[in-house]
Amino acid sequence: MSILNDLVNKHNFYRESTLNLQASENVLSPAVREVLSSDLASRYSHVMDSGFNGYGGCRYSEEILKETENLMKKLYGSKYAEVKTIGGHVAAEVAILSTMNRKENMLAIGENCGGYTGYFGNYIPSMFSINSYEIPYDAEDQEIKYDELEKVSKNINPSVILLGQSFFVKPYDMKRIREIGDDCNARIIYDGSHVMGLIAGKQFQQDALKYSDILLGSTHKTFFGPQGGIALTNDEELSHRMSFNTVWKTMDNYHLNRIAALGVAAEEMLQFGEEYASQVCKNSAQLGKALEEHRIKVKYSPWYSYSHQVHLSRENENEFGDFLKISQKLEENGIITDREGRIGTAEITRIGYNDMDELANLIKEALSGKDIKSEVKAIRKNLKIKYNR
Ligand SMILES: *Cc1c(COP(=O)(O)O)cnc(C)c1O
Repeated sequence: MSILNDLVNKHNFYRESTLNLQASENVLSPAVREVLSSDLASRYSHVMDSGFNGYGGCRYSEEILKETENLMKKLYGSKYAEVKTIGGHVAAEVAILSTMNRKENMLAIGENCGGYTGYFGNYIPSMFSINSYEIPYDAEDQEIKYDELEKVSKNINPSVILLGQSFFVKPYDMKRIREIGDDCNARIIYDGSHVMGLIAGKQFQQDALKYSDILLGSTHKTFFGPQGGIALTNDEELSHRMSFNTVWKTMDNYHLNRIAALGVAAEEMLQFGEEYASQVCKNSAQLGKALEEHRIKVKYSPWYSYSHQVHLSRENENEFGDFLKISQKLEENGIITDREGRIGTAEITRIGYNDMDELANLIKEALSGKDIKSEVKAIRKNLKIKYNR
């Protein structure tokens, strides 16, 4: 066997024996995985707006693209779906290219309030020669300061107000934001990367698309898909511009196997999304409460979270160490988290683990220096993927 096959087998075995609490990740169903490793993985297809395809042998791959677009439109109730982008980041590039010109201004939630790093400084703004400013935000209550946003918008006259966070626990007042945007002729873009599965499952920000011009995000965080991006709109002209800005601008090949796998994931979401997403949200609110009962400090008491994420407080530092240390202690025991104090319930819910009191207790024990490896292994052994056919 090759070194790589061996390493991949080891990785699979390792991750199958751990509990994954990373908010940006999820597991794929066997049906989605199967499609990912199909013949499509090495094919091209380029359907232009005119309908012309520069490649041959595409009779099924063209249909696969159409079908996946239709499923995503149905799921989000949108008129148009751009499914080709290979990540939430690229979907955001496409959306920004389609709504902004050089030198123009945009507003986005600041990084220190949980906003996405890519929207500031040397990243997307520098690449596209645009300016980004922070949306006034109250980190304590996790709320936009709407009156201040109104003032800032009048001052800087943004072309785009870009919503969404990587640390994302509470939805926005979309109607208010739309009014503020309309007053200064700004487009509203909603980056739902973290919560696309919760929106599809009707548990978070149900008016995300209703009051925005573009709803975009990742297809693999709370959504059931392989890693990829999606951008939805009801605006015909924007849909054409996004299509134009995808092929040969931000990308060439769009990975047909991924598109097909996304379609299978969308079918799963249509059937099981609501049940799954409501359990995810229940679990995170419950986990917040249970962690506090075990004297691990969690932000935003008493509601903790309306999404799939729970945020640890830095006040834990004295007793348990910083976020890196906490993550390392948990990882030694087979519980995987990121190194930023974020705990996610999407993947554990997908595999049917809903005992948040037990989980909080395990986390407390691991952080207190107890060896709980075998308990975690035993729990993981009895779990298997749910919400699939
Ligand atoms: C994860 C994330 C992205 C990037 O998504 P990828 O799919 O990794 O490209 C963009 N925006 C937000 C808010 C995110 O959390």
